[in-house]
Amino acid sequence: MKIAVFPGSFDPITIGHESIIRRSLPLFDKLIIAIGENSEKKYFFSVEQRKHWLREVFANESKVAVDNFSGLTVDYCRRVGAKYILRGLRTSADFEFERSIGQVNKQMYPGLETVFLLTEPEHTAVNSSVVRDILKHGGDISHFVPKTIDVSLK
Ligand code: ADP
Repeated sequence: MKIAVFPGSFDPITIGHESIIRRSLPLFDKLIIAIGENSEKKYFFSVEQRKHWLREVFANESKVAVDNFSGLTVDYCRRVGAKYILRGLRTSADFEFERSIGQVNKQMYPGLETVFLLTEPEHTAVNSSVVRDILKHGGDISHFVPKTIDVSLK
């Protein structure tokens, strides 16, 4: 069984994440969207809220599971039996960042492969921090987050 982990903050999920996830599903038997919790990092939305939105968006996808973890992504992958990490690539900056993480992860867990999907051109500029900024200033984020969820400041 091909199990992949898509690690990230998803703070909140955007249409960029959604697209990468949907496009990856034919490649794997199971995809775990895993919210990584880094104690040094401040998040905007709670883990529970982020998980809730992820579950809502993929409610009809039987291959998708949603989880959260702390510690090394490779340790989490071992724990859940995943041999693939999924990541999205938007820009050359993403590539440089992902290259070093992917190579270090492979060194720590040689059986693990990182699989990259290129972003759809129209999603290149979409990211969670832009969504958070627009939200903070009362703008309209509806074009940047999945249609099925209601992302707002509660
Ligand atoms: P992180 O905190 O690890 O950057 P994110 O939640 O921002 O977590 O992103 C998780 C993954 O989703 C990363 O692989 C990132 O490249 C990918 N991603 C984010 N936004 C987009 C987008 N607009 N198009 C494609 N991939 C994206």
